[in-house]
Amino acid sequence: MSVAFNLTNSLKDNFGFINNVSKESGQPVEQCYQCGKCTAGCPVAFAMDYPPHRVLRMVQLGLKENVLRSQAIWLCAGCSTCTSRCPRNVDLAQVMDCLRSLAKREGVPLDDRARDVSLFYDCFLNTVEDNGKLYELGMMLNYNLKTRQLFKNANTGLAMLTRNKIKFLPAKTKNRRDVAMIFQRVRELEGKAR
Ligand code: SF4
Ligand code: SF4
Repeated sequence: MSVAFNLTNSLKDNFGFINNVSKESGQPVEQCYQCGKCTAGCPVAFAMDYPPHRVLRMVQLGLKENVLRSQAIWLCAGCSTCTSRCPRNVDLAQVMDCLRSLAKREGVPLDDRARDVSLFYDCFLNTVEDNGKLYELGMMLNYNLKTRQLFKNANTGLAMLTRNKIKFLPAKTKNRRDVAMIFQRVRELEGKAR
């Protein structure tokens, strides 16, 4: 009795996950017929734990935990090569984006490279929110602090500074407050506080 009950619940969870991803990404994930063209063109597939077509298959099978804990969704560079190659009109880049967002929202624990990429996104967005635009040096320092690699790429950063490719101080952005308000509004919609 309890085995049947658990099985029913887990099937419900699986369907819930598939529907969620379809709805949030706006993509017909059920249409994928596993031709593999996305993976064949993906420039990052070699570094992923699951290639892109397999990520989509796992979504179709409702394997929520495996998908949301995968490094693949964080290593995806969002280049949209897969999207342009798909014969079933599945925008896989959009699906990957949606999966990252779900993983964040559900507080899924991330490993190694996935955690570093997620931190990089956070540092990027924080600096845009604080300064109204990207402040490269601030973002790099923040990222190095959070990943505990204080001097990572220090030589490159120094070379860029001396060649005036990046600024020492953040630029003064006219619409800084408007940008901060956009972040605030998104946070309210997501029911979060900073
Ligand atoms: S190219 Fe499209 S149909 Fe083919 S495996 Fe990738 S997502 Fe599925
Ligand atoms: S968007 Fe992501 S999954 Fe698609 S080809 Fe680019 S890196 Fe690969």
